[in-house]
Amino acid sequence: MMKPVYLDYNATTPIDPRVFEAMRPYYLTEVGNAGSRAHIYGHKAKNAVDQARVQVASLLGRKGEEIVFTSGATESNNLILLGLMSHGTGSSRKHVLATCIEHKSVLGPLEKLRASGFEVELLPVTAGGFVEPDAVLHRLRRDTLLVTMMHANNETGVLQPVTEVAGLLAGSGVLFHIDAAQTFGKEVEALRGIQFDFLSISGHKVYGPAGVGALYIRRCGSRQIPLKPLMVGGGQEMGLRPGTLAVPLIVGLGRAAELAGQEYQQRSHQAARLKRRFLGALEAVDHRINGDLTRMQSHVVNVSFPGVDSEALFLALRSAIAISNGAACSSTGYMPSHVLKAMGLPEDQIASAVRFSWGVGVEAIPHEALLEAVSRLSC
Ligand code: PMP
Repeated sequence: MMKPVYLDYNATTPIDPRVFEAMRPYYLTEVGNAGSRAHIYGHKAKNAVDQARVQVASLLGRKGEEIVFTSGATESNNLILLGLMSHGTGSSRKHVLATCIEHKSVLGPLEKLRASGFEVELLPVTAGGFVEPDAVLHRLRRDTLLVTMMHANNETGVLQPVTEVAGLLAGSGVLFHIDAAQTFGKEVEALRGIQFDFLSISGHKVYGPAGVGALYIRRCGSRQIPLKPLMVGGGQEMGLRPGTLAVPLIVGLGRAAELAGQEYQQRSHQAARLKRRFLGALEAVDHRINGDLTRMQSHVVNVSFPGVDSEALFLALRSAIAISNGAACSSTGYMPSHVLKAMGLPEDQIASAVRFSWGVGVEAIPHEALLEAVSRLSC
């Protein structure tokens, strides 16, 4: 039986075979705990981790010692947001700004901050799905500790104005965190060109393995921004993320970062070509694009087909195309998207929203099957 074409790259990407090959020896032949100093096995494991640290940091134009490995962007987001709590309390900076379209792994920790006496403001977005930089500027206060903002929204692909916000915050003493789960290795130049204090990375969105990620933490000379770990243990990762390092996964993330650095332009051009063709094909049926097309990543589009329920469309297409509505990380049942709601979309448009996301390995989007299903379901 033919498998459906996988078009859910924003949920997770396939692993690049070259990444897998880089990891393989660390499962099969290269035993060693990166924390073991007494023998060659430990040294080799540590060297492999250090190389991955540099590979990840280089893609951001930063230094290896500024990278802490985690289990993924969820953990990185939790570590920075909850890890700053005691610094905020100690410095009487208990005001935090975020956007109302953040991922649950940011909104959840923000709830905890709120419950601990922090004032958390969630900034609105426009109908196009992005925050106006002025909205940030107008809400900055003397006691603002942090601005946290995703770089691209996972449901719509709409890019947020991180460059402008970084400019606004420069020299203000307000910390800046970017959740780059969807843009690390994709929006490479944008991230290299700006100043931020923290940045969350996920391995499995960039052709690396799942279960590994990183948190970038800016250093000023030997000084580091004071973060408290969420766990205590063996002191690994400068004490910020104790636990034996997952050497094969970290090697995989490093290799994925290296390959992204070499290939991001070519990947982005190919994705944009597919998008142009796909948008052209969609003209044959009634549809609404959710999000500002001019600010969107090239490999994703969120579309509503009036009168067509998204769940019915997933079902109708299940043997042809694998798609979702984007909130995959919490898909235990139908929950109207908080992102599309925040953009002010009507309920029926939200109920019919479908996200298509693609990447390396996708040669064409089988739009004939889609158009046929949409025409059938909408009558
Ligand atoms: N932030 C965003 C914007 C995401 O899209 C995701 C994954 N859907 C995460 C955080 C969480 O990443 P991970 O799966 O690596 O925990």
